[in-house]
Amino acid sequence: MLYPWPGSIWLSTMNLDVNTLFLVTIYVEAILGLLLLFAWVQNTAIYAVAWWGFADLLRAASVVLFGMFGSVPDLVSIDLANALLFTAFALTWTGARVFDHRRTQPMLLFGGAALWLVVCRIPSIAASWDLRVLISSGIITAYTWATAYEFWRGRGEALVSRWPAIFMLFAHGALYLLRTPFGAMLPWSPTGNEVFESVWMTVLSFEALLFTISIAFILLAMAKERTEHRHKTAALVDPLTGIANRRAFLQDGEAQLKRQASDPHPIAVMLLDLDNFKSINDRFGHAIGDRVLTRFAEVAGGCIRRTDLFGRLGGEEFAAVLVDTTRERAIAVAEQIRTSFAKATSDVDGRPVVATVSIGVVISYDAVLDISALLAQADHALYRAKDNGRNRTEIASIELILDRAKRSGAESDVPSIRAAARSAA
Ligand code: GH3
Ligand code: MG
Ligand code: MG
Repeated sequence: MLYPWPGSIWLSTMNLDVNTLFLVTIYVEAILGLLLLFAWVQNTAIYAVAWWGFADLLRAASVVLFGMFGSVPDLVSIDLANALLFTAFALTWTGARVFDHRRTQPMLLFGGAALWLVVCRIPSIAASWDLRVLISSGIITAYTWATAYEFWRGRGEALVSRWPAIFMLFAHGALYLLRTPFGAMLPWSPTGNEVFESVWMTVLSFEALLFTISIAFILLAMAKERTEHRHKTAALVDPLTGIANRRAFLQDGEAQLKRQASDPHPIAVMLLDLDNFKSINDRFGHAIGDRVLTRFAEVAGGCIRRTDLFGRLGGEEFAAVLVDTTRERAIAVAEQIRTSFAKATSDVDGRPVVATVSIGVVISYDAVLDISALLAQADHALYRAKDNGRNRTEIASIELILDRAKRSGAESDVPSIRAAARSAA
């Protein structure tokens, strides 16, 4: 006879040793559970990993109970074993909710197991093999698809490993559901179609085992990817404004200039420093000062293209690299930032701040200067803007530096042109 649990396939596969398969399944589930718990201990920030670890341990326990069939009452080896198995799938689903910061649902967590234990007491269901397969497959598919749905709902957080997880969970759930029509269509007793049993059932049993192994690794990969993404973000993003920090800006700027070397086009580098910001803090308070900084990041970010670079170098100093930008366009963008910013700060949380910004710009027509030399030039222009009364844009004349380098005979000597550019600033 066949038993109404998903692993019963082991028993029906004539060419596989039942005891070995039981032991392999228990061993794999237990090891994966411990592996996930171990990973969680190493990084306790992602609680979902612990939920997934307990799910695998519980699945191992349910297989132990299934394996005791015949030597213990059916209530334990079938009903209770299935209840544990459903709860294991429910734990995985809860882990997916926890992963995306949703509340746990205790009623639904034990709902599948409770439903199973209740319906098994109904004589007509207890007597019907098909009905029991239908119910148990339905419960597992429901939890598996619910897990896929939770991951799909959280897709706003771009994790590459989210997609294989969704796909595998959906496919696994679908395969479970397919058991039902096949069960109804084809003879399920060992005296029936043995070819079907040995092929179809072997496929199912191996799919279940491979699914368990692969989903554990994908879940682990998701947790790892999130952690790495967080670290990377913390290292490269300014926490107040959400734009690139100094380090990220300089890295990206250097990479952009390298691209310019192979594909020459004019690049504008801008340095933007808010005017009299100290007095804004003094007059309106540090919190308003912070709001002015975030508003500046929004306004300036809205004036440049997606392909341009923009970052906060520190304090109230920002910088931008505008790719493929002529002198005229750079001035137009700088002026747009300057006027929009004053307008945008005419009312900050009900206070008439009217903050202004001074901007120094340098245009690079070829890749002679590196990002720090260009910023030094932009700083030179910014200094002039401050000197000439603030709230204005000044352009550095890079031709002057190149002229000077040419005159000193350093035309082909890039490091000394860079040095000249830095010392001129
Ligand atoms: P200038 O027009 O010459 O640039 O004058 P300034 O007052 O803007 O320049 P200064 O360098 O004297 O002052 C910068 C001020 O910016 C001092 C510092 O307290 C303030 N500041 C730096 N970082 C932050 C921040 O994250 N939040 C706030 N609210 N203030 C900041
Ligand atoms: Mg300033
Ligand atoms: Mg400053």
